[in-house]
Amino acid sequence: MSTNLAMQQEKEKLLAQREQLVQDIELLRESLKGEVDMDVEEGDPDVIEREKSVALLAALESRLASIDDALKAIERGTYGICERCGQPIPPERLDVKPDATLCVKCQSEVERLKKRGLPVQRHRWGHVDFEQQEED
Ligand SMILES: [Zn+2]
Repeated sequence: MSTNLAMQQEKEKLLAQREQLVQDIELLRESLKGEVDMDVEEGDPDVIEREKSVALLAALESRLASIDDALKAIERGTYGICERCGQPIPPERLDVKPDATLCVKCQSEVERLKKRGLPVQRHRWGHVDFEQQEED
């Protein structure tokens, strides 16, 4: 069993998913662009359709962001380790959700915080991405 090989396979899986997502997002953006100047009223099926597309676009973009996170984790060598508590993420979970960067416990915690509208403070998890780099 080679961990590197498994990692490589995960990475390829993620890259393939990413490619598909980017295409879907492009298509959706294009379709939204085309409908902008339509003369429609509120409650019109076209408006509802459009709102659905906007929601879908947001969902796809957030999925893309989490795939990018997972790819970054692979680069850092922290893939499969929960970003929040540092515990290993069970392989079964990664099978179902290869872009998971949180264990089930932390994921539900984060969902709970989001639902309550509380900020999810990623920098507390040991990341420097969102913190200032310059210090005198
Ligand atoms: Zn965790």
